[in-house]
Amino acid sequence: MRKYRFSRREFMTWAAASGAGVAGEDAFLPKLQAAVKEAVKEYPLIWMQDSACSGCSVSVINTIHPSIKNVILDQILPGSQLLLNYHSTLMAATGSLSTGMAVETARKYKGKYIYIVEGAVPTKDNGIYGTLGEEEGKPVTMLEWLRRLAPDAMAVLTVGTCAAYGGIAAAKPNPSGAMGVGELLKSLNIATPVVNIPGCPCHPDWFIGTVARVLLYGLPKPQEVDELGRLKVYFGKSVHNRCINRDYLDDGIFATKFGEVGCLLEIGCKGPFTHGDCPVRQWNSGVNWCVSANAPCVGCTEPGFPDAHSPLYQRR
Ligand code: SF4
Ligand code: SF4
Repeated sequence: MRKYRFSRREFMTWAAASGAGVAGEDAFLPKLQAAVKEAVKEYPLIWMQDSACSGCSVSVINTIHPSIKNVILDQILPGSQLLLNYHSTLMAATGSLSTGMAVETARKYKGKYIYIVEGAVPTKDNGIYGTLGEEEGKPVTMLEWLRRLAPDAMAVLTVGTCAAYGGIAAAKPNPSGAMGVGELLKSLNIATPVVNIPGCPCHPDWFIGTVARVLLYGLPKPQEVDELGRLKVYFGKSVHNRCINRDYLDDGIFATKFGEVGCLLEIGCKGPFTHGDCPVRQWNSGVNWCVSANAPCVGCTEPGFPDAHSPLYQRR
């Protein structure tokens, strides 16, 4: 891989640090931004939005941390095609002009582009319940895009829990037969490596850190990901592990209704079996996170979400 003015270890240290205001970040981020600019010339991105609410795109775009935003997001807005060669919501082009860019990128950068999928993929009735664009007057299904674009990608990155594991799009009764990308690729015998960035929505830092990791250093080493294909730097520990309410739990103080002081286990908190660094990274650029706002963790980064975690506000 390419050489940068920082090592993979330094990069991972930055990625592990929580959100805004990390010590040394002001010096590190310009170097990271320059490196990403170089890397995307060689490894462009195609981002397709399948069966999803667009919340993950909104979450990533809405990051207000200016330096992190500069690293990647300023380069993907319409008018700058440096990083992102296709994103159906962000790009200015529409119709066949936009889907044509995806096809052309895949042709020109065979084996090198990164295919980002947001949302689950409808599969019932050959995928007809989810389409993107048309060819010769006929809709092209999301399933067909996956069949065309995934095999020649360097890696597939799933953004959000719907893309990673099916999520809300695949919740019962799942009339469109929506599936998570990894499971679907396996059933199609497509062996392209998948890196999952779950969350409902996906945290901007998880997205930026994972994309930058793959762009700069290639596929993560086996020891860097967990058994669900997530970078351990973000998903290696449970929410419960670093929760602010652990002392309440240890002292046997449990909230029995919303607004009460105590551990939220009895009102449905799924933190003990949910992985993510929300307690230390927090959301909205470090302002708050679910449990701090007195909302039980609903386990949004896990494959069982939402069906296996329901009713969300009852103890499992
Ligand atoms: S509120 Fe949830 S994550 Fe926090 S200690 Fe209680 S069960 Fe664990
Ligand atoms: S605390 Fe739980 S529900 Fe909230 S964002 Fe993190 S993983 Fe998702």
